[in-house]
Amino acid sequence: MTQASSSAASFAQLGIIAPLLNRLTELAYVSPTPVQAATIPAVLAGRDVLAGANTGSGKTAAFAVPLLQQLVEAKTDDKTGAYVRCLVLVPTRELAQQVADSFLSYASHLNGKLKIVAAFGGVSVNAQMQSLRAGADVLVATPGRLLDLLSSNAIKLNRVSALVLDEADRMLSLGFTEELAQVLDALPAKKQTLLFSATFPEEVRELTAKLLNDPLEYQFQSEQESTIHQRVITVNRPMKTALLAHLIKEHQWSQALIFVSAKNTCNHLAQKLSKRGISAEVFHGDKAQGARTRVLDGFKNGEISVLIATDIAARGIDIDKLPVVINFDLPRSPADYMHRIGRSGRAGEAGLAVTLISHEDYHHFGVIEKKNKLKLVREQIVGFEADDEMPAELLEQAKPVAKPEGSGKKKRKQLPPANAEFWGKKS
Ligand code: AMP
Repeated sequence: MTQASSSAASFAQLGIIAPLLNRLTELAYVSPTPVQAATIPAVLAGRDVLAGANTGSGKTAAFAVPLLQQLVEAKTDDKTGAYVRCLVLVPTRELAQQVADSFLSYASHLNGKLKIVAAFGGVSVNAQMQSLRAGADVLVATPGRLLDLLSSNAIKLNRVSALVLDEADRMLSLGFTEELAQVLDALPAKKQTLLFSATFPEEVRELTAKLLNDPLEYQFQSEQESTIHQRVITVNRPMKTALLAHLIKEHQWSQALIFVSAKNTCNHLAQKLSKRGISAEVFHGDKAQGARTRVLDGFKNGEISVLIATDIAARGIDIDKLPVVINFDLPRSPADYMHRIGRSGRAGEAGLAVTLISHEDYHHFGVIEKKNKLKLVREQIVGFEADDEMPAELLEQAKPVAKPEGSGKKKRKQLPPANAEFWGKKS
């Protein structure tokens, strides 16, 4: 992949037409982000694109704006039946709604010429079938619901001229491989394909090799990551909640997104914070779709200031200028760490990611750092300092840490001291 050049052409210079330009001006998109500067001309030229880009890099507009332009300019009389012209596949319901909303927003000066529909699970299929009855110019869908719609003949995919796979790595890691293969089988061979992924594990590379035709390739992650300041604080496990409450109160962050490892931890932590005078909402996969949407909307519009979530919130969700992401529990995989911290510092804004680690996390966090080529300083907060060794009473209870992806088979016999420099030492 080529590294993106950051030469800043304007949206007009990239060839964007007036109705779309006007909307971008209203949205205060002054100049294209690197992913937009590279992708927009490639899409307008009809090329397949493979881009390594996180959410927060402006990738939705990078594909939505030029695709809307192509759709509105194309001469097509064939708008009969349950046709779909542009299909955007995304891994989660929230992302489906968000991407469809972005399409609708960018298209707002196209005089309603294009029909844009979102289809995702967790809500009744009937309304979605109804809105797809006369077809759609753009369908943004999760793979499972798309297959439901296909099998009930609510849509046909044989006229799709453009396909976008957004967050392809997430789609595959969530286990959508089979569904994806079925959807791809239902698509015409001749189409323009754009694939965006934050990471490129083997299965994504296999997919790109199969799917993309002589693609233009770009890599953007490094610029995105550099806008996030990462802090790592060591603390004895029993003091973690107290430290979290202390940090929230001391810094008075306007909003904070706190990641934990399990659904029930969300609720426990919310109760514990509430006892310390901090009101927090929870967001996880066991909540009904309506509740998930309400919580997310409340967080997006600032009514909720502290949100405790599982990794379901780590991808795709765009919350404007989130000041801080806190890893209360570590994510399982090194890739998820990057996705979590990517919720902060969006579209070039400075962000902050704070990770709280206790003795039992040290080794796992070392692996996360190594895989992500990071080397972060361990901090202590006065009054919450971690002991050098794990306190004896905790050694007993110390549960084995979930093994991160690719962490090998070797077992660490002794935990490293809290703030020791253990990089480069053999474990
Ligand atoms: P995305 O990576 O598509 O989720 O976009 C992240 C955020 O950046 C969204 O809030 C967009 O509205 C915003 N954004 C996208 N492109 C631009 C741009 N060129 N200028 C300013 N903000 C942008």
